[in-house]
Amino acid sequence: MKKFIPIIGLEVHIELNTKTKMFCPCPTDHFAKKPNTQVCPVCLGLPGALPYANRQAILFALKMGLAFGCGVSGFSKFDRKHYFYPDLPKGYQISQYDLPLTTEGRWKKIGIRRIHLEEDTAKMTHQEVNGNDVSLVDFNRSGVPLVELVTEPDFRDVESIVEFLKEVQTIVRYLGISSADMEKGSMRLEANISMSETGELPDYKVELKNINSFRFLTKAINSEIDRQKKLLEKREKIEQETRGFNEKTGKTIPQRSKEEAKDYRYFPEPDIPPLVFTSDEIEKIKEEMPELPEEKRLRFTQKYGIKPEYAAILSESFETGDYFEKAVKLGQKSGLSATTIADLMINRNLHRSFPEPAGLVKKIIEISSRVFSSQNEVSKAIEKVLLREAKAVSDFHKGKGQVVGYLTGMVQRELKGAGDIRIIMKDILKKLEK
Ligand code: ZN
Ligand code: MN
Repeated sequence: MKKFIPIIGLEVHIELNTKTKMFCPCPTDHFAKKPNTQVCPVCLGLPGALPYANRQAILFALKMGLAFGCGVSGFSKFDRKHYFYPDLPKGYQISQYDLPLTTEGRWKKIGIRRIHLEEDTAKMTHQEVNGNDVSLVDFNRSGVPLVELVTEPDFRDVESIVEFLKEVQTIVRYLGISSADMEKGSMRLEANISMSETGELPDYKVELKNINSFRFLTKAINSEIDRQKKLLEKREKIEQETRGFNEKTGKTIPQRSKEEAKDYRYFPEPDIPPLVFTSDEIEKIKEEMPELPEEKRLRFTQKYGIKPEYAAILSESFETGDYFEKAVKLGQKSGLSATTIADLMINRNLHRSFPEPAGLVKKIIEISSRVFSSQNEVSKAIEKVLLREAKAVSDFHKGKGQVVGYLTGMVQRELKGAGDIRIIMKDILKKLEK
């Protein structure tokens, strides 16, 4: 039987957490808000309303592009992308077509074709009201800034897609530009999937939409790969179309035939002037960029000598990495090693109980000094107690084994509770049985 290789490219949409929307002053925070309370003539698409671009959103999108190694064009513009749907009141989305903000980046083996800015659509819900099936439109989301990241068709399996998306989330959170929460809809994914016998890009692709959670991502993509494989094995032609994933059946279903760029009748947005950046401006943004997760992982292994798996866990969020480094710095004065701190954070989650690194360091010193004191002082304390408690000792020799518990308690009191009960008991028995 022939072998088919999946060829997959991604389009990732991420809502930016700016205070206001992309082209108007309405607030962006729409999650769980009363429908249609955060709207104005611009984001309702009323005739004559004039949009203006959000500077913060542009800055965020540039940071995202730079984080993925994209080049920034000195000249960029917005375009109108036309299509009709009730969640798009203007009849077009303001997006970017031929001159996106940033292009040609890379993450590991994956090429990044472009990262551009656009606006989100309104949110539709389909439900029953007074016995009628209705579709409701909430415009609170209309006009929220979105970055769209488009990869080259460089993925060959689902595992690397999951790895990539997790990294996108981490990077976006490091940059502080979005929560990139798939379940809340602030990160959304479309995958373009084709199958190839030769590894060359075939003449069709199926766009898979509605992948709304990490849970269903693997299932949705694998089910589409399977469907295409079966058709190709039967020598059937695969339609170029858009399909959605049905979480109940676990299968993909056709939605519509796939549009091409010409269907959207793109043209430059006449109400917003083009964006021009000087190289000085770009340099300044580069200087403001935080250390990115990949750099941090590498630095943690090299600087602190911790395992790459540990470095990865400690770099999962910017805050955890920062906490670890502060703890290492504080611990140094007391001779605590970075590996000890990393180990206790990862394997015992010890930092969860201490909001400040200083608290964690204090606790670790306490733990390690307790072990230290028991090593050196336990036998001294035992000797002292056995001399003092002559009656208990003679009781033991008369066969009263239970006095060991009493003696252990006495030794522990002598050590001010800093001993290890099992060690004390063992050592007492050793002494008594001599
Ligand atoms: Zn508005
Ligand atoms: Mn888009």
